[in-house]
Amino acid sequence: MRIAVVSDVHANLPALEAVIEAVGRVDAWWHCGDVVDYGPHPDEVVARLRDLGAQGVLGNHDAAALGSSIIEWFNPFAQTACLWTRDRISAETRAWLAELPQTATIEGWALVHGSFRDPLEEYVTRGSQAAASMAVSGARLALHGHTHVPRAWRKAGDDARDLPLTAGRSLTLGDDTWFLNPGSVGQPRDRDPRAAALVLDTDAGVATLLRVPYDIGTTQVDIRRAGLPAILADRLEAGL
Ligand code: ZN
Repeated sequence: MRIAVVSDVHANLPALEAVIEAVGRVDAWWHCGDVVDYGPHPDEVVARLRDLGAQGVLGNHDAAALGSSIIEWFNPFAQTACLWTRDRISAETRAWLAELPQTATIEGWALVHGSFRDPLEEYVTRGSQAAASMAVSGARLALHGHTHVPRAWRKAGDDARDLPLTAGRSLTLGDDTWFLNPGSVGQPRDRDPRAAALVLDTDAGVATLLRVPYDIGTTQVDIRRAGLPAILADRLEAGL
């Protein structure tokens, strides 16, 4: 199977459309949460993923948009954006988000937003965290998001090594144990403003990261028009 994995789309429709175009035909779409919030197109992004039949998991921003008290931990501009999203999303969007589980296993792959120790909150940025998460899930192949930075963690004894996951370079998975992060479609934070996505070829055991340019200006205009905090528009062009 050829599978497209996206994460942290954050209601950025031009970024998602560019990824869909770049990926082309696939057998399935999976996502690792944070479908909405920050960006100006929550209903449009959910409708697009629903039409693609995407399967995935709940992110902390999806939970906050549904009314979770998690919003209290957000910084002021994130709280402002979340309240905008809560007011704006349709009943259909709310219902689709509300059905997302915190963890899922699809075709032998385990999916989570943050980590398997703490599905909504933990940022996996160190090998020890990745290894602990892999131990909790017990899955040989797993996917996460939340950091907005593409990463490939490979289990190494009780630890995990961070392998480079660069655009266009394919990673051979072999028989190793992996915890892969596709990066963010709608708000990358690795100083590369291009949308990120991961394509899995499960027959060949290969994962390939895509970085896709998109019309950042359109999203920025829509963020400003919506009255969302200006920092959410500004950061997109810096990839932060
Ligand atoms: Zn996010």
